Amino acid sequence: MAEIQLSRAEMELGLPSVCLRCGAPATSWQEKVYEIPGNELTGGLGFISRMLRFGDVVIGAPTQGFLQLGQSWFRKQVTLKAPFCDTHQGHWPWRRRVIVGGLAASLFVLIGGILGSVMGGWDLATGFVVGMGIFLCWCVAAVIAHETSIHSTAITENGVTLKGVSERFAASLNDYRR
Ligand SMILES: [Zn+2]
Repeated sequence: MAEIQLSRAEMELGLPSVCLRCGAPATSWQEKVYEIPGNELTGGLGFISRMLRFGDVVIGAPTQGFLQLGQSWFRKQVTLKAPFCDTHQGHWPWRRRVIVGGLAASLFVLIGGILGSVMGGWDLATGFVVGMGIFLCWCVAAVIAHETSIHSTAITENGVTLKGVSERFAASLNDYRR
């Protein structure tokens, strides 16, 4: 896997139509928003808005709209339009599902264990230990899902450094730049 640096102009519309992950011809484009660091307020709003988007939560849509409105006043972000082939179009979505679904499941078990012990006279310690165990497994899974994905290692005013990109994409990008 290769590491590439993309300028803001390239991120927004300047990439070859070759899959980011394997180098096959791209069949779809996915957008990923990166927050440019330096403004905590924008970063915070962006983070909450992203978490809502992560969950595909219906109730989150109006809140998200409101947050995006707030964010646009202080906006400092850049959108990557990323090319993927049929096989890899789920590259980011399924990782999102692992991360969001795993967190929801571990919180569900943790809260369920606590409620069960309060209302049903279960052993509180057991419920807590099981919940924490599942939560720790989720932490490990989330780190693995992130590290094996195409992810940014640096974000600046000028662009983003991406890790986990296919060598063939990196080569196509070099040709494309000439
Ligand atoms: Zn691919």
